[in-house]
Amino acid sequence: MFTKYSRLKLIIVLSLISAKKITLKKVLNVFYCYIAYYFRLGKSGATPLLINFDLSNFCNERCIFCRAEDGKIYDQNPDKKCGFIDMGMMRLEVFKSIIKQTKDTLLMAVPYVNGEPFIYNDLGKAIKFATDNNVATMIATNGILLNEKNINMILDNGLDFIKIQVSGYNKKTHNIEHRVGNIELIKKNLEILSKEIKKRSSSLIVMIDYILYKHNTQELELFRKFTKDLRFMFSVRPGNPRGMEDKEEKQYKKQFPINIPCDWLWKVLTINWNGNIFPCCDYVTWSGIKGYGKFSPGSTDILKVWNGLDAVRMRKVHKDQGRKPIPICSKCPRKGVEFKF
Ligand code: SF4
Repeated sequence: MFTKYSRLKLIIVLSLISAKKITLKKVLNVFYCYIAYYFRLGKSGATPLLINFDLSNFCNERCIFCRAEDGKIYDQNPDKKCGFIDMGMMRLEVFKSIIKQTKDTLLMAVPYVNGEPFIYNDLGKAIKFATDNNVATMIATNGILLNEKNINMILDNGLDFIKIQVSGYNKKTHNIEHRVGNIELIKKNLEILSKEIKKRSSSLIVMIDYILYKHNTQELELFRKFTKDLRFMFSVRPGNPRGMEDKEEKQYKKQFPINIPCDWLWKVLTINWNGNIFPCCDYVTWSGIKGYGKFSPGSTDILKVWNGLDAVRMRKVHKDQGRKPIPICSKCPRKGVEFKF
């Protein structure tokens, strides 16, 4: 029941209560989603607790497990080896239309999935629209574009939580996984962020996510200290060894939870940049997969999709047969709604 992210979740909830972004209706919806998952009901709450939006799947850091050197995203579908995923950007109208439809019960919008969120030109407008509709927001970034202008943009528009992922304290180490990122620039950006938060007495929650490998273990404590001095939260999680198989071991060694129905089906939705509606963020990098349809502003009712035939059918497969019949789910380690590792 308690995981390494329980403390973070509690801090986020307390912060949202103080920002008055949690209403009784939202609490009841969360409660209903949990009950629906517990009893494996076909229909869940009125809306998910959380919706992920892949506003853009472009990235400027090109981590070796995720993308090729030219930035193309690897297809995770093993039947399509050497393939890549289509890339594009979401129309802001799609984001706004879904927020409008779900705002009364949606707890949080996550305007990134697979791309670097600061690449999307209208990120500020998206965060502001969610804030104006009393919906909390969180993003994760590689920190390269977390410059003064973007720091002011997220603080002005009411972002609630930001996670910055790093994999080394020094440039040489950081660049083993993150091909392009300049860690000295990222650290400078973090210092500016810390000062600005202090100056404004902002309630933005900041967490540094140290991606741990064998090759960067020696710099872990340096980053922990740096983070502590800035008064940010610090988290350590295992890295993805894809592309480093000769130097790094597989880090997920447990058995996949194939007999446990996935909570995401009862609690979360993901909208791909092209409007495809998926149960979770892993679907966006698995080509040819069927989701719950495509969102079209003005004609799709996301509430009907959320508890529609396809979603109910998928919950039933998980309930009756576990994850095994669905290839993407059968190799998924996720348990609970939180970061993957
Ligand atoms: S089991 Fe994994 S891949 Fe399947 S819906 Fe859940 S989170 Fe997504």
